[in-house]
Amino acid sequence: MVDPDVSCSQCDAVCCRLTVVVMPDDPVPRHLVERTERGLEVMARDEDGWCVAIDQKHMHCSIYEQRPAICRKFTMGSGYCRSEREAYAHRYDREIPLTVIDAA
Ligand code: SF4
Repeated sequence: MVDPDVSCSQCDAVCCRLTVVVMPDDPVPRHLVERTERGLEVMARDEDGWCVAIDQKHMHCSIYEQRPAICRKFTMGSGYCRSEREAYAHRYDREIPLTVIDAA
Protein backbone atom coordinates (compact mmCIF):
# COMPACT_ATOMS: atom_id res chain seq x y z
CA MET A 1 0.00 0.00 0.00
CA VAL A 2 1.31 3.43 -0.96
CA ASP A 3 1.20 6.27 1.58
CA PRO A 4 0.32 9.42 -0.40
CA ASP A 5 1.76 11.62 2.36
CA VAL A 6 5.32 10.39 1.67
CA SER A 7 7.29 12.56 -0.73
CA CYS A 8 10.82 12.48 -2.13
CA SER A 9 10.93 16.24 -1.61
CA GLN A 10 11.02 15.61 2.15
CA CYS A 11 13.58 12.82 2.15
CA ASP A 12 17.37 12.44 2.12
CA ALA A 13 17.08 10.06 -0.86
CA VAL A 14 17.56 7.12 1.50
CA CYS A 15 16.58 4.64 -1.24
CA CYS A 16 19.73 5.78 -3.05
CA ARG A 17 21.78 4.20 -0.23
CA LEU A 18 20.51 0.72 -1.06
CA THR A 19 22.48 -1.70 -3.22
CA VAL A 20 21.40 -1.02 -6.80
CA VAL A 21 21.98 -3.90 -9.16
CA VAL A 22 22.68 -2.78 -12.73
CA MET A 23 21.42 -5.02 -15.55
CA PRO A 24 23.31 -5.33 -18.86
CA ASP A 25 20.64 -3.37 -20.78
CA ASP A 26 20.40 -0.53 -18.23
CA PRO A 27 21.57 2.69 -19.97
CA VAL A 28 23.71 3.71 -16.98
CA PRO A 29 27.04 5.47 -17.73
CA ARG A 30 29.46 2.59 -17.07
CA HIS A 31 31.97 4.71 -15.12
CA LEU A 32 29.34 4.86 -12.33
CA VAL A 33 29.17 1.07 -12.09
CA GLU A 34 31.38 -1.22 -10.05
CA ARG A 35 31.60 -4.99 -9.79
CA THR A 36 31.16 -6.79 -6.48
CA GLU A 37 33.39 -9.66 -5.37
CA ARG A 38 30.65 -12.01 -6.58
CA GLY A 39 30.74 -10.43 -10.05
CA LEU A 40 27.49 -8.47 -9.74
CA GLU A 41 27.37 -5.04 -11.36
CA VAL A 42 26.05 -2.39 -8.97
CA MET A 43 25.92 1.39 -8.80
CA ALA A 44 29.09 2.60 -7.09
CA ARG A 45 28.62 4.37 -3.76
CA ASP A 46 30.44 7.28 -2.20
CA GLU A 47 32.14 7.21 1.20
CA ASP A 48 28.88 8.24 2.90
CA GLY A 49 26.98 5.35 1.34
CA TRP A 50 24.98 7.19 -1.32
CA CYS A 51 24.93 6.15 -4.96
CA VAL A 52 27.56 8.13 -6.85
CA ALA A 53 24.87 9.32 -9.27
CA ILE A 54 23.14 11.35 -6.55
CA ASP A 55 23.31 15.11 -6.91
CA GLN A 56 24.44 15.89 -3.34
CA LYS A 57 23.33 19.51 -3.51
CA HIS A 58 19.71 18.76 -4.41
CA MET A 59 19.56 15.11 -3.30
CA HIS A 60 18.12 13.85 -6.54
CA CYS A 61 19.29 11.57 -9.30
CA SER A 62 21.72 13.20 -11.73
CA ILE A 63 21.11 10.46 -14.33
CA TYR A 64 17.33 10.29 -13.97
CA GLU A 65 16.66 9.44 -17.64
CA GLN A 66 19.39 6.78 -17.58
CA ARG A 67 18.74 5.33 -14.13
CA PRO A 68 18.60 1.53 -13.74
CA ALA A 69 15.31 -0.34 -14.06
CA ILE A 70 15.41 -1.24 -10.36
CA CYS A 71 15.35 2.48 -9.48
CA ARG A 72 12.40 3.02 -11.84
CA LYS A 73 10.47 0.30 -10.04
CA PHE A 74 11.03 1.71 -6.54
CA THR A 75 7.70 3.24 -5.52
CA MET A 76 7.62 6.42 -3.45
CA GLY A 77 5.57 5.83 -0.30
CA SER A 78 5.56 2.02 -0.67
CA GLY A 79 6.14 -0.26 2.30
CA TYR A 80 9.79 -0.69 1.32
CA CYS A 81 10.25 3.08 0.96
CA ARG A 82 8.66 3.74 4.35
CA SER A 83 10.69 1.06 6.13
CA GLU A 84 13.95 2.45 4.70
CA ARG A 85 12.97 5.99 5.77
CA GLU A 86 12.16 4.71 9.25
CA ALA A 87 15.42 2.73 9.58
CA TYR A 88 17.39 5.78 8.43
CA ALA A 89 15.61 8.05 10.93
CA HIS A 90 16.19 5.59 13.79
CA ARG A 91 19.88 5.29 12.95
CA TYR A 92 20.30 8.92 13.87
CA ASP A 93 17.92 8.69 16.86
CA ARG A 94 20.20 6.10 18.43
CA GLU A 95 23.39 8.07 18.02
CA ILE A 96 24.91 9.16 21.31
CA PRO A 97 25.61 12.88 21.20
CA LEU A 98 29.26 13.87 21.61
CA THR A 99 29.76 15.81 24.84
CA VAL A 100 32.83 17.85 25.62
CA ILE A 101 33.73 17.52 29.32
CA ASP A 102 35.70 20.35 30.80
CA ALA A 103 38.30 18.62 33.00
CA ALA A 104 39.63 21.92 34.34
S1 SF4 B 1 20.83 5.73 -10.14
FE1 SF4 B 1 19.74 7.57 -9.47
S2 SF4 B 1 17.77 6.83 -8.62
FE2 SF4 B 1 19.18 5.07 -8.77
S3 SF4 B 1 20.15 4.92 -6.74
FE3 SF4 B 1 21.50 6.16 -8.06
S4 SF4 B 1 20.89 8.30 -7.66
FE4 SF4 B 1 19.24 6.97 -6.90
